Amino acid sequence: MFNVILFGAPGSGKGTQSQKIVEKYQLKHISTGDLLRSEIAGGTTLGLEAKKFMDDGKLVPDEVVIGMIGNLIDKNKDAKGFLFDGFPRTIAQAEALDELLKKSNAEINVVIALEVSEEELVTRLLGRGKISGRSDDANETVIRSRIEEYRKKTAVVADYYQQFDKVKSVQGEGSVEEIFELLSKIIDAVI
Ligand code: ADP
Repeated sequence: MFNVILFGAPGSGKGTQSQKIVEKYQLKHISTGDLLRSEIAGGTTLGLEAKKFMDDGKLVPDEVVIGMIGNLIDKNKDAKGFLFDGFPRTIAQAEALDELLKKSNAEINVVIALEVSEEELVTRLLGRGKISGRSDDANETVIRSRIEEYRKKTAVVADYYQQFDKVKSVQGEGSVEEIFELLSKIIDAVI
């Protein structure tokens, strides 16, 4: 199995690049944001619980997200590998992911961090809010709160993987194709 984490702040381009990566390398895309939004759309108990946090720009509690990922990994034991997008977002999630993968004799092979300045993030998210229909993109206060959560709880996840020498940083400003080429080079070197 070959497992990648695409890491970066909200608006850093993880979703866009993830779609291209999974297509090129035939990986199973796991986006916790998409999974949570589909729980909300389905009106499930999990979705209702998660919505309160998402509307405020806060992280959904670890146990909710970890349970969801555990089920998905179990259901996809035959996958060539996973591309994690928007997960793990806390150290507890990173530790839980390591444990879950270990059960399949697998591990995270590389963490690719997309680097984008804060002003560019806000501009992109507000722009996306006008077309995506995502309420958490339409409000600048919620956007700032998501970036704050990222700085307080998620940025340290890169340090967690750094201790195992697994992190590669990429400049996330440029054209989608330019960035995709940089990401592909990193993956080709590790795969
Ligand atoms: P973005 O990274 O652009 O904010 P996502 O779709 O990845 O968009 O996440 C949207 C929201 O979903 C987050 O603000 C958070 O509330 C929730 N969420 C997504 N992934 C996680 C996670 N791994 N842990 C906790 N909350 C999450």
